[in-house]
Amino acid sequence: MNSKEIISKLYDGSMKLYQVDKYASSAKEATDIRREFVEFKIGKELPNIANYSIDMERASARNIENSIGVIQVPMGVAGPIKVNGEHCKRDVLIPLATSEGALVASINRGFSTITASGGCNARVISDCMTRAPAIKAESASKALEIKRYIENNFDNLKEIAESTTSHGKLIKINPILIVGNYIYPRFVYSTGDSMGMNMVTIATEKILEEIAKNTEGTHIALSGNVCVDKKVAGINIVEGRGKTIVADVLIPKDIVQSKLKTTAEAIVEVNTVKNLIGSAAAASSAFNAHYANMIGAIFLATGQDAAHVVEGSLGITTAENIDGDLYFSVNLPDVPIATVGGGTSLETQNEGLSICDCVGSGKALEFAEIVASTVLAGELSLIGALAAGHLARAHQQLGRG
Ligand code: NAP
Repeated sequence: MNSKEIISKLYDGSMKLYQVDKYASSAKEATDIRREFVEFKIGKELPNIANYSIDMERASARNIENSIGVIQVPMGVAGPIKVNGEHCKRDVLIPLATSEGALVASINRGFSTITASGGCNARVISDCMTRAPAIKAESASKALEIKRYIENNFDNLKEIAESTTSHGKLIKINPILIVGNYIYPRFVYSTGDSMGMNMVTIATEKILEEIAKNTEGTHIALSGNVCVDKKVAGINIVEGRGKTIVADVLIPKDIVQSKLKTTAEAIVEVNTVKNLIGSAAAASSAFNAHYANMIGAIFLATGQDAAHVVEGSLGITTAENIDGDLYFSVNLPDVPIATVGGGTSLETQNEGLSICDCVGSGKALEFAEIVASTVLAGELSLIGALAAGHLARAHQQLGRG
């Protein structure tokens, strides 16, 4: 069938959008046909969405269905930032994709402040990915029997899970929650350099087959929401999910003044009043100013799953005045990231990862320290700006009556 025939079938409704791939000669042609159909429907041409360089053949196989083209997001670069990590010990340029003006400049100001202070210390505290299915038993007592079966058969379930992947490892099953006659075992894996959600989903499905063979439990859902994927959750904050990362810096008094135009005292006050007390008063789960800004920009630039920004937005910022010097830290419990798999292999995103030299195997922990350093810089810069503004206002109001 040629493209004209396919388009006329779309117009008369005898073909669905998803069926175009089957009849078009390539993913690129299917993309053009669908876009032309959309243009007809909305009465407007979409020449910019049509303009792209990524390999649609590859993207259609792994990353997108019903493709019509590509959206472009402006990309900037910030840095270099001196990272004194366990896995990353170097000056790094950071790719950032955003449509929010001032964000890259603000992060860059943070980088300049941190690098002038000797660099940022960054550490990965834990590294895991989770999947927690929902299983149904006849009663709470039967649910407890299934919980005990899972606990007593860890080695066997581990072997079964790991037969599906050469990189995934089942580390533990914790917690195993029971609610009435439902059981929610949270399977915790290490997933190498991949973010791991497909990997742990495939592995957990195999485990569920084994549980079904050996217990009376009924598999209700492969994800029972105790994972907890792409949502804000206390369990992720306490237990960690993806990378749990910390970054800190000690900024000498004169650099706080020259770079941030404020004082450690003012920054500590803003952090306490805003990030700690304000967040508590609002019953917020995130005790920080804007981690999501840095996480969102670096995620888009490097092909991470954008929906995981919700998890990366969590965390606590601390600030301490040490005789006029400023100690500042960011603590991120839940950052799902990858340097392999998912969207990281898309050409533009892969180039983004190459800017910070984090492409491929053996790079995920290094990348995690870089992400934490970027969040530290953006957070410092915003809190610094608020503190400087707060001081300017106070001077104006109090100093001038
Ligand atoms: P993936 O691209 O599906 O799997 C990673 C692949 O890379 C595996 O085949 C793995 O091989 C291979 N690999 C090669 N070198 C590796 C290394 N050094 N470390 C780890 N793996 C390596 O990616 P994924 O991380 O599992 O899943 C990410 C995708 O899942 C994203 O596209 C995301 O949007 C999507 N997602 C899925 C769900 C879900 O419920 N399924 C939920 C949220 C997001 P082996 O298999 O042999 O280990």
